[in-house]
Amino acid sequence: MEKGLISVDRWTSQSQAYFLTHLHSDHTQGLSPTWAKGPLFCSRLTANLFPSKFPNFNLSLLRILDPFGAWHSLSLLSPSSTLQSRITVEVMAIDAHHCPGAVMFLFRGEFGCLLFTGDFRWETASKRAKVGRTMLLDALKDDVVDILYLDNTYCNPSYIFPSRQAAAQQVVDIIVSHPEHDIIIAIDTLGKEDLLLHISRTLKIKIWVWPERLRTMHLLGFHDIFTTKTSLTRVRAVPRYSFNIETLEGLNTMRPTIGIMPSGLPWVTKSLERGSVERFHKYIYTVPYSDHSCFSEIEDFIKLVQPTSMKGIVSSSSCYVDPLYYFGCLCGANQPVQRSLHKHKRKERDERVPAVCLRTAFSSGGASAESERTRERTVMVKHSGIHVSRISALRRIQRGAKIMEDDCLN
Ligand SMILES: [Zn+2]
Repeated sequence: MEKGLISVDRWTSQSQAYFLTHLHSDHTQGLSPTWAKGPLFCSRLTANLFPSKFPNFNLSLLRILDPFGAWHSLSLLSPSSTLQSRITVEVMAIDAHHCPGAVMFLFRGEFGCLLFTGDFRWETASKRAKVGRTMLLDALKDDVVDILYLDNTYCNPSYIFPSRQAAAQQVVDIIVSHPEHDIIIAIDTLGKEDLLLHISRTLKIKIWVWPERLRTMHLLGFHDIFTTKTSLTRVRAVPRYSFNIETLEGLNTMRPTIGIMPSGLPWVTKSLERGSVERFHKYIYTVPYSDHSCFSEIEDFIKLVQPTSMKGIVSSSSCYVDPLYYFGCLCGANQPVQRSLHKHKRKERDERVPAVCLRTAFSSGGASAESERTRERTVMVKHSGIHVSRISALRRIQRGAKIMEDDCLN
């Protein structure tokens, strides 16, 4: 795809249409209440939440892609044509099962077919993923994804964790086993609502959240479960940046308190085979509740999509792994024999290299140089990157540093 056409989760470049996968801050950098570069496409839920994140934003710029699984057509100017000729870009939004409003975008046009997952969780046993699977297969029955832009946050075989439902029960078990304790749970400004709902329903208690988060909960339709009154509950969901060892130690001088960190990241060493609860510190438990896909789920997804090639969307993080390192063999471009057996027909297209303007800049270059760089980078990660990430996360928690969402802990 030529530059100047569309941008996904990228807000500074000049394009004709902009696409927002979800409202986590690492995907909205560059967006502001005064941003007005062009039409912004997103899901209905993201549009509903948008004003609370960007007050005074010109809402007439928002374009809702509804329902999931339906193709929408855009008529855009061909950036390469001096004759102002128009081209059609088709786009479909599919549930990404990440946080409220999160979607993947499937694009097709004369540039080919591109799938951008944004952040996503692909729990294949869940009903929602089954719906998404059917939508994808229907959409791709006559087409092949040329490039899959993939959430590679946990693209390493070390990342093994259970379904969110199972992890939520682990959190409940910790709370039940500490009947005299106050409980604090680290969450972001959006996401992990199902975990809190499970706790509330199972234990029949309300959950404290901070005032801004309560407003978000109300926008999401949860009116009776959450409260800002500490006297009503011993379970509090707190902002991730305020969750650290110093805070827990301070709270314990007043009342016995434990902290629970729901995250995929700490799950890479001792407990990785079990995918179970780990006591991270005497006051802190980590539970493998993740809104990103684990390694086996990423594998399932790539096997389903069978892209010709793919790129990871997370490259700034210390835990970056190029998905081609582990899954290049599943891609058509690298396995011509398997490709020839592919059940989908490949449409005739021109051979311009697709390039979509994304949140993350990808290096360009010849295929062999690229694969060499990939190998070097990935080997480093394989042997040390994950461990370093975990230690640095622990250090940052110990220092009380704010851990951002793009530290890929959520
Ligand atoms: Zn996210």
